[in-house]
Amino acid sequence: MALVLQDCYKQKDWVESIEVYMDLNTIKDVARPRARSELPVWTAGDAWLAGGTWLFSEPQVHLSRLIDLADLKWPPLEVNATGLTMAATCTIAQLDALACPPDWLAAPLINQCCRAFLASFKIWKTATVGGNLCMSLPAGPMISLTSALDGVCTIWRADGTERKVTVLDFVTGNQRNVLAAGDLLRQIDIPLAALKRRSAFRQISLAPVGRSAALLIGSIAAEGGLLLTVSASTKRPVRLAFGKVPAPHELREAILHGIGDGDYHDDIHGKPFWRKHMTLRLAEEIRSELSGAAAPP
Ligand SMILES: Cc1cc2nc3c(=O)[nH]c(=O)nc-3n(C[C@H](O)[C@H](O)[C@H](O)COP(=O)(O)OP(=O)(O)OC[C@H]3O[C@@H](n4cnc5c(N)ncnc54)[C@H](O)[C@@H]3O)c2cc1C
Repeated sequence: MALVLQDCYKQKDWVESIEVYMDLNTIKDVARPRARSELPVWTAGDAWLAGGTWLFSEPQVHLSRLIDLADLKWPPLEVNATGLTMAATCTIAQLDALACPPDWLAAPLINQCCRAFLASFKIWKTATVGGNLCMSLPAGPMISLTSALDGVCTIWRADGTERKVTVLDFVTGNQRNVLAAGDLLRQIDIPLAALKRRSAFRQISLAPVGRSAALLIGSIAAEGGLLLTVSASTKRPVRLAFGKVPAPHELREAILHGIGDGDYHDDIHGKPFWRKHMTLRLAEEIRSELSGAAAPP
């Protein structure tokens, strides 16, 4: 993305450095920092540019400068002794291509969540994991993935400090999150223990290639309990934790009690009552699938 029409719109008396971005004709400047020390001081009208798949998809008349993250050249993915580090700038395609160690039983979730991103290869190759979290749409599949796997966000704050927050707490509502003006999501760390959990995935959309209306992920914790993460049907991801795999009625009660009717998302991709119904149904499917996994060997 970030198609720069460097010369087309340049007029004789314009300064040489001015570039005009495709649709965003209020953009006067593009910064390309190569290190944290080069990040410009944040001012009104600034926006971080990651893949640009959302930024360039609608008018942004309030913006006058983009700060392109590409030249920071963060390694997209790092597998280490403590788990997996995803740079905010890691693309969906890079994540989908990751060759996971065989003992990461939860690895199929990565491909399943990438495929819940119902977009063309052009979007896959450009859209980033961090951009997806920062958009904070209920149907953000990278939110589903990283919240289900106990992901922890590292945020570079505008004042030069750093903050860590779980993905579950990062997203606070539909297109709302904890970022303050000028805060930059640097990376998401997934702990090894979460990657080793046996898991189950369910997702549904109203249309065959529509946005997720409900996306649920269950996994079995080391002690045998069930961890259920509900997303897409709700405005923000919700985690329900059980000390052991619950009986069907216990699971149903926990969902009815833990997720209020007002917590379900409402848009053209699904009415709240239908999303609630699908949440209950998909949760039971996950419970049933994982019941065997919880039994002692
Ligand atoms: C065809 C199509 C299908 C799509 N399907 C889905 C879908 O199923 N689910 C979904 O959730 N979205 C979907 N989107 C929306 C969007 O493409 C995704 O949310 C994508 O992941 C955004 O990532 P990006 O890197 O392109 O972000 P950008 O467009 O570059 O940025 C998005 C927003 O996040 C901010 N931002 C980006 N990176 C950071 C960072 N590191 N720190 C702080 N702020 C940052 C930007 O300033 C901007 O406000 C779709 C878009 C298209 C065009």
